[in-house]
Amino acid sequence: MAEPLLTELSARELAQKIAKREIRAVDATRAFLEQIDTYDRTLHAFNEIYNDAAIAQADAVDHSLDRGENLGVLAGVPIALKDNLCTLFGHTTCSSKMLQNFCSPYDATVVTKLKAAGAIFVGKTNLDEFAMGSSTENSAFGPTHNPWNTQCVPGGSSGGSAAAVAGRLCAAALGSDTGGSIRQPAALCGIVGLKPTYGLVSRYGLVAFASSLDQIGPMTRDVRDAALMLNVIAGPDAKDSTSWPQPPPDYLRDLEKPPEKIRIGLPKEFFGDGLAAEVSNAVHAAVDFFRNHGAEIVQVSLPHTRYGIAAYYVIAPAEASSNLARYDGVHYGHRTPHASDLFDLYAASRAEGFGPEVQRRIMLGTYALSSGYYDAYYLRAQKVRQLIKDDFDGAFEKCDVIISPTTPDVAFKLGAKSSDPLAMYLCDVFTVTCNIAGIPGMSVPCGFSSTGLPIGMQMLGPVFSESNLLRLARFYELAHDWRTRKPAIAPSS
Ligand code: GLN
Repeated sequence: MAEPLLTELSARELAQKIAKREIRAVDATRAFLEQIDTYDRTLHAFNEIYNDAAIAQADAVDHSLDRGENLGVLAGVPIALKDNLCTLFGHTTCSSKMLQNFCSPYDATVVTKLKAAGAIFVGKTNLDEFAMGSSTENSAFGPTHNPWNTQCVPGGSSGGSAAAVAGRLCAAALGSDTGGSIRQPAALCGIVGLKPTYGLVSRYGLVAFASSLDQIGPMTRDVRDAALMLNVIAGPDAKDSTSWPQPPPDYLRDLEKPPEKIRIGLPKEFFGDGLAAEVSNAVHAAVDFFRNHGAEIVQVSLPHTRYGIAAYYVIAPAEASSNLARYDGVHYGHRTPHASDLFDLYAASRAEGFGPEVQRRIMLGTYALSSGYYDAYYLRAQKVRQLIKDDFDGAFEKCDVIISPTTPDVAFKLGAKSSDPLAMYLCDVFTVTCNIAGIPGMSVPCGFSSTGLPIGMQMLGPVFSESNLLRLARFYELAHDWRTRKPAIAPSS
């Protein structure tokens, strides 16, 4: 049998083969850089590519291994980072003109941890500006295309990371998820995406969007790689006061053990109007698989789901308007050359630096927080937040895991929702409540549409139940072959 292409190996397989010196880190890195060279003009998954630095890093890994040194669990594995994660190398742009030339003076904690594990950084990936969006069309540098159909969006906001992983332009990637930005693009690109429990992964060095909702997580081609990546990035961090102080478990340890006595909850609110029939069928088929393997399926109700989008689009913009106040044209970031006084400098720098969606969010958020409206909007949204949390607490008394679709439909055409912000916001209808409640959520590939586009199922669990979610997802994944399908991307001309 012919050796599989290096770019077809999972991150875990690559790491093991490199550690055993069956393949060299430099060859693995070159293979992915060649994929980027061949396909990234078509996909535009990357904002920045580190050809020379990646080869140099890989060379260093090979030399250390030659000397018999013991390296980390990702030694030599080519990884991509969403471009809202601060890195000492290259730029950190958030796909915004505001930060187009910004070079971070420090690494995000997740980047420090990946470095210590020996990962190779091939590039920074495209996103909706400041992670605001569901299609990666809000990038100031142009959209990313879906590898399964380049006329379609990859989802967002971590669309660049999702397209890069699905297209085999990197072995694995990191994304960030405030209302679905890891899970929704993972679903639309046919990969695994995990949003950890709030506080499990340090947010230090993640450019803040909505601080009470943001989490960093892995985007990978299989569930085992998600566990491997989570092992590297999870854990307490003195630099993030919201990080959970307890050390996390080893997510690979029991991963391959078949789950026992699982109760799966199906929330009726997630299977109603507006859900595409093909998505519903694929998710139900996955639920049937679990039922046939001994899971108990229970109906649960999450009645406040219907207020999820409304609450999210008050809370997230409110926090964003505060977080984005720092971009004033003075400290760093874009500064207008045409200001006559200080007020003008602030106003013009922000008007020139921020794109339309970011400006819309700042206005929504500022309005919701303004005196006289605060009680009616922000405070009320916070009350709804509590009700949504209570819904989940109630549901998890009856079940261990909730399964739902990740998205109402498969990937849509570029431009299809660009002029209708509300239609775009509704892409997140199944994902936002997870962030609102702070619980972990995963998207796992569970089929394809008749048009050949991937479908994802969402698995939600109580706080810190990542081990359980991963184990269940791994059990499902091993019995299906979705992850072995590969998009046929037309090479860049
Ligand atoms: N699509 C959602 C939004 O636009 C979620 C984004 C995210 O998770 N970063 O806010």
